[in-house]
Amino acid sequence: MLWLSYFRGMMKIAIFPGSFNPLTIGHQDILQRALPLFDKVILAIGVNPNKTYEYPIEQRQADLENLFKNEPKISTATYEKLTVDFCKKINATFIIRGLRNTKDFEFEQPIAQMNYLIGAGIETIFLSAQPQYTHISSSLVREIKQLGGKVESFLPRTTATE
Ligand code: ADP
Repeated sequence: MLWLSYFRGMMKIAIFPGSFNPLTIGHQDILQRALPLFDKVILAIGVNPNKTYEYPIEQRQADLENLFKNEPKISTATYEKLTVDFCKKINATFIIRGLRNTKDFEFEQPIAQMNYLIGAGIETIFLSAQPQYTHISSSLVREIKQLGGKVESFLPRTTATE
């Protein structure tokens, strides 16, 4: 029973942290593939208080909440400080990250090692990007959009009924 596992602290809760500025179909694929591994996955939007964002953070969270509203295992949150502290606050013991290439791996490995230490055993689970998504990054999507290009094909489709 899911609620019983929750109270016994046996629920497998993961966060998928990121800027998601914007969330692309590459992120969406990682998120969907992580679902069978966990009881709950929280899409955690990391907020840098010193940055200004094109869209207010509340708006971005509301959009993501809406995008995944039919998936009961997914919820969204925002957080400002250490990822591991946010994990502890919500009883998450796993961090999901996507790897597109060796550059991602080199960047991510020491962070995962550090989070395991300072988070007292919080495990980072890496999922390899599918080859058709390895070229997609939020920064490129933003740049293309700013310069007047079309970016719809890199972004999740909202359902036709909306
Ligand atoms: P951050 O600013 O923390 O790197 P991002 O929103 O850029 O946040 O990315 C969040 C996670 O998603 C990272 O682990 C990143 O490697 C992964 N990711 C980004 N784009 C893709 C993609 N196209 N395919 C798979 N994983 C991706």
